[in-house]
Amino acid sequence: MPGRLVRSQSGPHAGSWLTAIPAEPATTLAPQAMQLALRRRLRMPLPLCHGRCGPAPGCGAQIDRLGDHALACPRTGLLARRAKVVERAWVRVAREAVGAEGQVVPQQWLVHTTAPGVRAEDRRRLDVVIYGAMPNGSALCCDATLVSPLTRTAQPQPCTADVDGAALRAAERRKAATYPELRRQGPQKLLVLGSEVGGRFNSDAQQLVRDLVRLRSYRAPPALRAAASSGWTRRWWGMLSVAVQQAVASTALGQPWPQPPEATSIAGPPLDRVLDLAEAEGPSRLPPAAATPVVVVGPRRLRRTPSLTGPKVGRSKKKKKWLVRPLSYQLIHILYKSIGCESKV
Ligand SMILES: [Zn+2]
Repeated sequence: MPGRLVRSQSGPHAGSWLTAIPAEPATTLAPQAMQLALRRRLRMPLPLCHGRCGPAPGCGAQIDRLGDHALACPRTGLLARRAKVVERAWVRVAREAVGAEGQVVPQQWLVHTTAPGVRAEDRRRLDVVIYGAMPNGSALCCDATLVSPLTRTAQPQPCTADVDGAALRAAERRKAATYPELRRQGPQKLLVLGSEVGGRFNSDAQQLVRDLVRLRSYRAPPALRAAASSGWTRRWWGMLSVAVQQAVASTALGQPWPQPPEATSIAGPPLDRVLDLAEAEGPSRLPPAAATPVVVVGPRRLRRTPSLTGPKVGRSKKKKKWLVRPLSYQLIHILYKSIGCESKV
């Protein structure tokens, strides 16, 4: 059914990969990945070899031409590996945001956080922990996940056909059950940075980017903060959205996607480059383009359109009114003076 992924492809910033400027590897989709992403978006058959899921590990089922089985089958082992692509994008975004004033720790052991009641032999690890991003100093314990609203038989997961982000809500419940210690009182907070294979991000992810943008743009001069905020927003959503599509493409291809090269600067690009990404707000202040004069040839004589008349446009009633008004004021002033009164005109 063509509309099965429409909800997954909608939502704020779900299509940012379509408008990302390919100026660096983090915001660039390779031609093969771009073709897969566009075909997935249009629900067109993927240009891949289709056969059985596997050989090993795999379930051996017949895989479909739309890639739904490959994106949902847990037997291939690719679901956990594809999440690394998105996780690295979150790490980079967080590092650019907090800079040297904060700290971003990927693959942090849960026992090394401030979560209470974790035993020393606990082997759970968080995808990324961000320090210094919140005004109250709390640590953001993040778990990035990428889920599919369709099963490996291309059937909708429960409620996903009627409710936006239902697969993300289920993932959030699973993560909350995995890390109950992070929900207790303390200077830590669990953030499930969820995304769907169609491109949709959950509310935690959107709120984190808003917080990071506010933190990063505050370092810009006051007059440039609005533009800096817009630029960082566009840059980071482009990186995250491209990472999701790279992860989807790698899963559909059946192989892990090569890791993008590390950023040359952890702090990100300089401010002038970020300002180039800022969205223009409000109407343009440039004067409207001059209308091309059109000469209309009539049956008797050459008529000119009003655009050719130039200043003669002032012959309108409004212009005459403005020409007449000062004369009337002068007449009233003379009349007042003749009767010995002072005019206030
Ligand atoms: Zn399978």
